Amino acid sequence: MKNYDAVIFDLDGVITKTALVHAASWKQMFDEYLKLREQRDKELFKEFTHEKDYLPFVDGKPRYKGVESFLESRGINIPFGDPTDVPGEETACGLGNKKNVKFKSILEEKGAEVFDPAVALMKDLKANGIHIGVASSSKNCQLILQKTGLEDLFETRVDGVVSAEMGLKGKPEGDIFVTACENVGCTPDRAVVVEDAVSGVQAGKNGGFALVLGVAREGNDDDLKNNGADIVVNHFEGVNAQKIEEWLEEIKK
Ligand SMILES: [Mg+2]
Repeated sequence: MKNYDAVIFDLDGVITKTALVHAASWKQMFDEYLKLREQRDKELFKEFTHEKDYLPFVDGKPRYKGVESFLESRGINIPFGDPTDVPGEETACGLGNKKNVKFKSILEEKGAEVFDPAVALMKDLKANGIHIGVASSSKNCQLILQKTGLEDLFETRVDGVVSAEMGLKGKPEGDIFVTACENVGCTPDRAVVVEDAVSGVQAGKNGGFALVLGVAREGNDDDLKNNGADIVVNHFEGVNAQKIEEWLEEIKK
């Protein structure tokens, strides 16, 4: 391929169908917390919704950042706490940890499904000599890759665990995509980001990538376009190494 050397994929919602598991566990956790505030503080309960809360404030962000963003949107102030906080403690970390307990139990119980066309695309890229990496905010990234048998496909993994170790800023900053790109020996100006979250396409844009490919599986095409996606698809049928080359040609014009 003349125009690119690497493609860095987000995981949840792009390669695996874990986005819905995340959304469901966030909703359970936040609704329980908002109900507690109603009983204890006499605040009117307003449920956590997918459209108005999950997609704009939580989707794609690092766990504790997601907690903070949503609570801020509701005017709720609680301490950040510490990542070692007990799940359910009334801190951003405690609530985030509670969400993770719920997520892991759903994952253990139901496993994680894979979008087969995404795997086909990755194999086509590899066959064409393109480097591939995964960049996810999730601290469960490796567990999900193991559970789905995808771990060996990627040359590099920059996830929530690696980010914490390296002190990388989460999405919407571009750090984790840029780091993944550098790990496979490439530069962002010759690499592609594939993302399904608003915070993720912003990260691709902020990282200076040659192409940000948005995957709008929930009809949120416009949100992705308005936040940095150069091209938006609804699925990977018909997307292959050659198609990406053609998009890059178009963008150059
Ligand atoms: Mg995602």
